[in-house]
Amino acid sequence: MKYDYLIVGAGLFGSTVANLLTKKRKKVLVIDKRNHIAGNIYTKNENNIDIHVYGAHIFHTSDKEIWDYINSFGEFNNYINTPIANFKGRLYNMPFNMNTFTKLWHDVITPDDARRKIEEERLELNGKEPENLEEQAISLVGRTIYETLIKGYTEKQWGKSCNELPSFIIKRLPVRYTFNNNYFNDRYQGIPVNGYTKLIENMLEGIEVRLNVDYLKNKTILDNLASKVIYTGMIDEYYDYKLGTLEYRSLRFDTEYLSYVDNYQGNAVINYTEREIPYTRMIEHKHFNYKETKGTYITREYPVTWQKGMEAYYPVNNDKNNKLYEEYKNLSLNEDKTIFGGRLGMYKYFDMDKTIREAMNLVSKLD
Ligand code: UDP
Repeated sequence: MKYDYLIVGAGLFGSTVANLLTKKRKKVLVIDKRNHIAGNIYTKNENNIDIHVYGAHIFHTSDKEIWDYINSFGEFNNYINTPIANFKGRLYNMPFNMNTFTKLWHDVITPDDARRKIEEERLELNGKEPENLEEQAISLVGRTIYETLIKGYTEKQWGKSCNELPSFIIKRLPVRYTFNNNYFNDRYQGIPVNGYTKLIENMLEGIEVRLNVDYLKNKTILDNLASKVIYTGMIDEYYDYKLGTLEYRSLRFDTEYLSYVDNYQGNAVINYTEREIPYTRMIEHKHFNYKETKGTYITREYPVTWQKGMEAYYPVNNDKNNKLYEEYKNLSLNEDKTIFGGRLGMYKYFDMDKTIREAMNLVSKLD
């Protein structure tokens, strides 16, 4: 065999595994069906602006080992994610905090005022245990915030009504009684100064990478190149959907270059939380970096129902899909040569730091 490991997919998971295996002196080949490395964190630089081609990615972690590891491949800036929500033309700070509360309710001035207001609204559920996302949201923040900032956005994002969705989706939205607009609670946060693609390029330095290679179409030949395979694609596609199709949400990005506008929306991320506007957010990429540039790129992000052949972004982790995934996982455990990993291989939405942690855990078990 020419290689110890064939890694299918040059995204963050595959590239981390490749990097760590190479440090263990393994001979690795990385392939990807796309014409570029970096998977969904791929950025391309145009007119001196890094465009997040497959959606905005902000790195955040509280894990110092992971922060030090990722920083060893390139410098990060001090970007802090402070998204704004636009509901019917009025702007509110995210995540839910004192700036949001004072704008929603003019009689709210202090944290105690806000708590009282939210407590009052939470009574609506009468102590009932929340059974879906709508009830969960009302029990956490009350109806006003739910209807202004959660309902429309969530229904667009997931293509389902909030009373049919599981509540865990919004568990990670923080509620704060301070004026802190930082979306994340993590200790470390930032975006690579030279873009994510450069970072992944540095991770893959000295490693053989072949692009435009479709693994599943050339499986036999490719499998023969290596003793072990690490597959980071969709687990159900690997098995030709023989047990059924897992559900995903996909996204469509509509990007425009505005050459005569230097600052279109004043913030990198603006969420559109009303149901009637078909996109969930508008990204103005230049604000992710603090470089002075002329012109600007804006991207509208439209959630769409995933169909075969589209990019799969979000696994829909409801009970039905999780059960089907378990069946695929059981099949995969019988493979003697192939290991499944990453967001698509494990059917789980990982933040970037968790992706790296998963990759580290995997490599620590490999010899
Ligand atoms: N969410 C919301 N309103 C917002 C932003 C997020 O209700 O303005 C909810 C929504 O249900 C979404 C979840 O929070 O699916 C997680 O959103 P986030 O933007 O944090 O996740 P991302 O898609 O960026 O990974």
